[in-house]
Amino acid sequence: MSPSRRSVALLGATGSIGVQTLDVLRHESERFELVSVSGGEQLSELAAIVSEFNVRRVAVKSVEHRATLSELVAHDVSIVVGDEGLDELASGADVVVNAVLGFAGLPVTLGALRAGKRLALANKESLVAAAPLVAPVRDTPGAQLVPIDSEHCAIHQCLASSPARPGYPDVRRLLLTASGGPFRGWSIERLRGATKADALRHPTWSMGAKITVDSSTLMNKGLEVLEAAVLFGIDAARVDVVVHPESIVHSLVEYVDGSVLAQLSRPDMRLPIAYCLGLPERLPLHWGDLDFTSSMALTFEPPDLEAFPALSLAYEAARLAGAAPAWLSAANEVAVEAFLADAISWRDIVALVASTMDHYVADPMTSLASLYENDAAARRWARASLQN
Ligand code: NDP
Ligand code: MG
Repeated sequence: MSPSRRSVALLGATGSIGVQTLDVLRHESERFELVSVSGGEQLSELAAIVSEFNVRRVAVKSVEHRATLSELVAHDVSIVVGDEGLDELASGADVVVNAVLGFAGLPVTLGALRAGKRLALANKESLVAAAPLVAPVRDTPGAQLVPIDSEHCAIHQCLASSPARPGYPDVRRLLLTASGGPFRGWSIERLRGATKADALRHPTWSMGAKITVDSSTLMNKGLEVLEAAVLFGIDAARVDVVVHPESIVHSLVEYVDGSVLAQLSRPDMRLPIAYCLGLPERLPLHWGDLDFTSSMALTFEPPDLEAFPALSLAYEAARLAGAAPAWLSAANEVAVEAFLADAISWRDIVALVASTMDHYVADPMTSLASLYENDAAARRWARASLQN
């Protein structure tokens, strides 16, 4: 490897963020070397990535997956397995992109920070669930947590304009923008008939199925409120949501003097991915600029909290703190899986999360073992509700 090239581990390489990260890396092979990847079920796609980028280290879910993958890859490759495998790869590169879906991405988040690496984080679920455990590993010398999630990446860029002081006393609030999803403007009555096809038709972003459904319920924005609070060390009460259907303004920071800073770009996840890989440099990539030569409307409106109760559930989980956000996220994973498997209706997704939260017993969650116990308990309650 040329000494000037930064090594990159891309965990969750076969997904939506993974594929877009590969696109950035193809354009920037002079600056970055992809040294390790992981995948889930799409082993042929994973093998194709390993071959194209001549990757030497791969993580898969099981020994069966390892056997299948080793038959698909022609060159010599070391294949590690399970959570330990993800943890190992997350500690072996300059930049670790966490593009794994859901709670399964936890070993990547903790592994990269514990090893003092730059964690380019798409996987919000791990940060939300493990909030009390992330703070200490973030203090590891060299560890850097940079958000790929477009709203948080926007805030990261806005906050860079002022000195970082703990708690950001000169910030009045962070304003996360939300497209509103496919059901923006739908009445509660109309939402009763929302189908899977409707939920998967996102107006502005092309993403994996789970986050697309989360966007339709606004649970994605709820998780992002929790994510912002952890990332920037700000109370969730100082994180607001505003609906912005054009998805051009990716988020805003309002200061105590009334000034508001925003970051704008076309809705394309390759931009925040490139930002996180290139920092402190900006990579000279062009995937469509904003066109200021023709008129462009930017509109903002408040979210409909009655039709989309997921947001209030997230604020309540933030208020409860401890393991409550882990419960919220775990219950939501179970609910979305059930919805995608046609086992429950769209309206049942958030109802299932709410009924699961009723069983939450306050727990400050100070150990990893306790995080796994809480995650399992929430999933048990959510699955029990599915049977009723
Ligand atoms: P996808 O479902 O498209 O991809 C998920 C990736 O994780 C795939 O590589 C998948 O493997 C792998 N994976 C899934 N389950 C497991 C598991 N149990 N163990 C190991 N690997 C697993 O998701 P997205 O790319 O849409 O999202 C990834 C993360 O990024 C999520 O946390 C999401 O919230 C976040 N995010 C995504 C955005 C987007 O635009 N897509 C925007 C902002 C954040 P395989 O496909 O081979 O089964
Ligand atoms: Mg987002």
